[in-house]
Amino acid sequence: MAKREILILGNEDLYRECEMVSKDQLDQAKRVAVDLNDTLDVFRLEHGFGRAIAAPQIGASIRVIYMRIDDEDTVFINPCMEVLNEEIFELWDDCMSFPGLEVRVNRYKAIRVMYHDLDWKIQTEVFEGDLSELFQHEYDHLDGILAVQRAIDLQAFRMKLGE
Ligand SMILES: [Zn+2]
Repeated sequence: MAKREILILGNEDLYRECEMVSKDQLDQAKRVAVDLNDTLDVFRLEHGFGRAIAAPQIGASIRVIYMRIDDEDTVFINPCMEVLNEEIFELWDDCMSFPGLEVRVNRYKAIRVMYHDLDWKIQTEVFEGDLSELFQHEYDHLDGILAVQRAIDLQAFRMKLGE
């Protein structure tokens, strides 16, 4: 498999809602997961950030998220997200589809996620704090929503120099 090109802000495909993966499509989802891994590796070398990537960012319109947590990689297929309470927090968010730009957003503090793993087993995960906001960012990609659409107001943007 291979590193693939990351779609950049402005590409219409980033605004499309992704399709659920059926069990028959598991092999296809696995191939996409390998490409997500390779693409994430190269991006991290080039940009020094990036902890997760969603399938639509490499042009695969399926509900798959690839997340690197403490050097361990998890693939989420057809994730469902449940907000555990109404507590929110504000942060500067970034995205591999617009490196250099940061946007101020609100995210939920704690969520529970159910998903299929690569063996099609159902798994559950609870995320809090930075992993919670990271997952919500990636989950939005599956619904065709970018962090810029979550900006808290019109001054919620800044450029990071040195990218
Ligand atoms: Zn993103």
